Amino acid sequence: MVDAKGSTARVGPGTGVLVVGLGRSGIAAARLLHKLGAAVKGIDSAPEELIDRDFRDWASRSGVELECASHRDSLPGGIELVVVSPGVPLDLPLLVEAGAKGVKVVGELALAASLVSIPTVAVTGTNGKSTVTELIGEMFRAAGRRVFVGGNLGSPLSEYLLDPFEAEVLVLEVSSFQLDTAPDFRPEVGVLLNISPDHLDRYDDYEHYAASKFALFAAQGNSDAAVLNRDDPEIIGRLDKSDFKGRRFFFGTGLRKGEMGARIEGSEIVVRGIAAEKEERYRLDNGPLGSAPNLHNAAAAILAARLLGCPEQAVGKGLAGFKPLGHRLERIAEIGGVLYLDDSKATNIGAVAAALAGMSRPVVLIAGGRDKGGDYRLMREVVKKKVKAVVLIGEAREKMAAAFQDVTQVKSAADLAAAVNLARTLAEKGDAVLLSPACASFDMFRSYGHRGEVFQEAVRALRDKENDKV
Ligand code: ADP
Repeated sequence: MVDAKGSTARVGPGTGVLVVGLGRSGIAAARLLHKLGAAVKGIDSAPEELIDRDFRDWASRSGVELECASHRDSLPGGIELVVVSPGVPLDLPLLVEAGAKGVKVVGELALAASLVSIPTVAVTGTNGKSTVTELIGEMFRAAGRRVFVGGNLGSPLSEYLLDPFEAEVLVLEVSSFQLDTAPDFRPEVGVLLNISPDHLDRYDDYEHYAASKFALFAAQGNSDAAVLNRDDPEIIGRLDKSDFKGRRFFFGTGLRKGEMGARIEGSEIVVRGIAAEKEERYRLDNGPLGSAPNLHNAAAAILAARLLGCPEQAVGKGLAGFKPLGHRLERIAEIGGVLYLDDSKATNIGAVAAALAGMSRPVVLIAGGRDKGGDYRLMREVVKKKVKAVVLIGEAREKMAAAFQDVTQVKSAADLAAAVNLARTLAEKGDAVLLSPACASFDMFRSYGHRGEVFQEAVRALRDKENDKV
């Protein structure tokens, strides 16, 4: 069997593999392993009825044994490899036992990536991963290249391997949870967008979380490239401590003389060091990529695509055709001169701070939800500068109120619809009402998408009411 890029997946006929976690990526891994001839067993702590029905039917037809509602803390017999899903905590007794017995524990990404040898760009960071991943995909599509876009976004890489479609380029979004279980993953181009506190409910500390992002470069060799945010002190401050062999390219406003990369100049991106003899210029002007934080995202995407051989013209076309993803600073309506923006995907402090920094209008901010262990005081400066009032919802209300009460006006609302109505009364012509929660949604909603939909509905109701008045 081909083991193209790493030593992760020594899987062949009869290899005993346990898949832990049967969500979308675990399911794809189980199917892939079965296709490779492995003797697959799957477990999940969720009850059977919560596991995908088609998968359960397939498993029983295919001789793949499933153990649902499982809380086992020891390995079943005959297991030589364990594949874990990103949601599974790595300190589960079962996984600790595997490690102690010398049984390798890897993630779905590591498994799948070790089976392909197609030029790959991988994008990680606290915020902007999906936007940049999609943008790079758009550029390669504009070049007429067959491209697979997925990973942590959309389809897991294992699904690509199960599909007859043959890509020329892989563009993968990679989370820190995936990097924690993919030590051999070696993308030709690795992009690190930014690091700010997130998932502190899952990592022991911030240092551990930040370090996990640098794992993207750990297996790279001299011919590979690292694309790094020059303006992020959390990245630059850790560069010297990080041991990586790849070539370094930077993006941002603060590029140093002689550094290769993409410099942001106003709403223009100037690239040096790719096509040796000349500078390339990309104008972003008034489009959705023309303001913060998307200027940085565009600069990172341009560099990554060019480094992997996407022609300059196609990069320009990809930028021009890009449509922002939903619930990321999405403009919903302008009502009575007040602009309403849905940034429900902003589930951490860094995303909200970046959104506020990019706002040119005074902001009434709607925030709150389930706390993820971050320190809201880190946003005080930008809140003081940009936010005329904040309306808080959800479990984190008190903690947030304590962080902001002396820098802006703080209000609270029982639910999101009430928050929109209250924000309307606080906003004046020329202001923006921004939903950018800095929290997870699960205390009140099914997902960030659901939260965004509820916000949009409330805004539309407000618009209809205002129209009736006219
Ligand atoms: P991810 O996949 O990393 O969660 P998304 O592209 O889905 O990233 O965006 C998540 C949130 O982060 C959105 O609220 C978006 O507006 C914000 N965001 C996007 N790019 C950046 C960036 N470069 N820096 C900070 N925040 C960003």
